[in-house]
Amino acid sequence: MGRLGAMVAGAAVLAFAGPGVAQTANEVEIITQDLGSGLYALYGRGGTIGVSVGEDGVFVIDDQIADLSDDILGAIAALSEEPVRYVLNTHWHGDHVGGNEAFREAGAVLVAHENVRARMASGIDESVLGQPVPPANEAALQSITISENATFYMNGQTARVIHVPRAHTDGDTIVVFEEANVIHMGDIFWNGFYPLIDVVSGGSLDGMIAGLAFGLSLADDETQIIAGHGPMGDKAAMQAAHDVLVDVCARIEPLVAQGLSQDEAVAADALADLNGEWGDWFIDGEMMTRLAYRSISARPE
Ligand SMILES: [Zn+2]
Repeated sequence: MGRLGAMVAGAAVLAFAGPGVAQTANEVEIITQDLGSGLYALYGRGGTIGVSVGEDGVFVIDDQIADLSDDILGAIAALSEEPVRYVLNTHWHGDHVGGNEAFREAGAVLVAHENVRARMASGIDESVLGQPVPPANEAALQSITISENATFYMNGQTARVIHVPRAHTDGDTIVVFEEANVIHMGDIFWNGFYPLIDVVSGGSLDGMIAGLAFGLSLADDETQIIAGHGPMGDKAAMQAAHDVLVDVCARIEPLVAQGLSQDEAVAADALADLNGEWGDWFIDGEMMTRLAYRSISARPE
């Protein structure tokens, strides 16, 4: 991991807060990484931001948390004098949609999968992390929703927005910049550690694995892959993230089949030898076991 990668991972470790967690922006620095072709990744606190700049205006993917909006808008203004025309939210979690009101105020049109808007509008009594998430303000809700896929033709890029069913949530989209060979995976890909799977919001372990496999099918060895959390990835890193979830599934599945309770599955410590490498950030081995258990148990017959 290079210096930027180490900084980013470090910032993320200190910074992450999942859906519904109150956050402040003290001492957060927005780090801009140039991907070429007018594309950038921005790191601060929350999900990694993708930015496309050029003569057609600025296209932003995710906008982190409200407290950082001025800093993020400032970092984008340093890249382009054009206005932010669109913000696409990859899913509904607060660390990916928190800047929506500020970006709308700045003139952007907010876009997401229809399930993102529906979940933001209704809120949720108890999130996968155990807290309530209140309904979002009207101004934070998207003006345009998509039910499957959409394509943005901007700045010389064909940016394909593709819905991936029941993965991190039930409203995930990934964005494929075809000419630049860059993919933003949203939170389907966490680079270097176990991911959150929001089984309360329609996410599933099987869908995460399928989503990562789908992303891999679109990538080659040159593809730059923006992870929802963690440093910039490539196909090999995403393959590793896919393979560890396949492994997790293969280990937890038999425990569910044997009729163990969730706590008994945790006590079985089936992921022990994986946790050192993968469970040292937001999702530890116990949480990964619980999420996998819940997801496998909830499979449709
Ligand atoms: Zn998320």
